[in-house]
Amino acid sequence: MRERNMQAHDMKQWIELSEQTLARTYARFPVAFVRGRKSRLWDAEGREYIDFLAGISVVSLGHCHPKVTAAIKKQAGTLLHTSNLYHIPEQADLARKLVDASFADRAFFCNSGAEANEAAIKLARRHAHAQDRGGDIICMHDSFHGRTLATITATGQIKYQEGLDPLPAGFPKVPFGDLDAVRDAVGDRTAAVLVEPIQAEGGINVPPVGYLEGLREICDSAGTLLIYDEIQTGMGRTGTLFAYEHEGVAPDIMTLAKALGAGVPIGCMLATEEVAAAFGPGSHASTFGGNPLACAAANAVVDVMTEDAFLEGVRKKARYLEKVLKSIASRLPGVKELRGRGMLWGIELDRDAAPIVQHALESGLLIGSAGPNVLRFAPPLVVTRKDITLMASIMEEVAAEIA
Ligand SMILES: *Cc1c(COP(=O)(O)O)cnc(C)c1O
Repeated sequence: MRERNMQAHDMKQWIELSEQTLARTYARFPVAFVRGRKSRLWDAEGREYIDFLAGISVVSLGHCHPKVTAAIKKQAGTLLHTSNLYHIPEQADLARKLVDASFADRAFFCNSGAEANEAAIKLARRHAHAQDRGGDIICMHDSFHGRTLATITATGQIKYQEGLDPLPAGFPKVPFGDLDAVRDAVGDRTAAVLVEPIQAEGGINVPPVGYLEGLREICDSAGTLLIYDEIQTGMGRTGTLFAYEHEGVAPDIMTLAKALGAGVPIGCMLATEEVAAAFGPGSHASTFGGNPLACAAANAVVDVMTEDAFLEGVRKKARYLEKVLKSIASRLPGVKELRGRGMLWGIELDRDAAPIVQHALESGLLIGSAGPNVLRFAPPLVVTRKDITLMASIMEEVAAEIA
């Protein structure tokens, strides 16, 4: 059926149909993919691409990982949805795995990153109000936390807030990487400090060494909470299951989404026992959150990622990726800086990144941008050395074309 549908439309028709019928929220590249396998995608005309964006850090196990596909197929034929009115074995199983692998004691499941951050903001405020503190969430310039009204207000990029007044109150901003600014901003009004261990959408910004430790100290002495948004950096992206492990500094609350379900929508908020106690029955909920299908997929993801040697293998390939990107950065015109960690890298240019992304796409390579001037590389964690070498040779061609 699907095959016949695909033949009935050529790619140009799919593009026209989506331009005519969908809300104008995305500036899409003129391509429609119909099939994927590992780090490869195929468009509706049968052309093959190598994927170094992974659906924006979502498809970290590659397209259609056999263990995830098998788990989804099995669950789809068993039970899709009941309700959080009842106990859900797959959800409890997933919570156990995430709690065992992290600082946390309890998990709340939802369907996206923005929802996970909403849960974190609500929990932090309830925790603060119970102690007669204010509800301010201190956020960072250039951060990205989602598109709901609260999370877009937490986001430190004004362009996303245009035309949305009135915005919710209580999200003061300070510069990313600046501990003194946080120290000056915290007070009795502060419920929490919210930070990405590496800012992804904001330009792959890596904070100075000791930043998380400094934030932890400030939060502890002010009696306020520390929240990590690991929606993009979590689930192995930086070479450890969670990015905070590099610094060894645990938060009170952490949010996950993107790679957690390998392409099946799922979000998660994790918290310590003490902080999680601020939620009781009825204080937060989600109809779909943590349903059997999404949790079956995420359980398969966590199982693969916590297998012996998986993350060690990711770190090894990441070192090769870094070496290759250094050489690419030395060849591209207008490069200011290469920065990142593990399988999440940005090349900052002194010019627009879009033409390079466009050229790469035309040459069969998918990369992204993070802000107007930064090229983003976030391949599936299962990318091979051969894939990385192929990416490098395509980027060399692109560099030669635009030089
Ligand atoms: C993508 C992202 C979000 C938003 O996730 P959605 O699933 O799009 O709501 C929030 N925070 C970070 C760090 C992200 O990368």
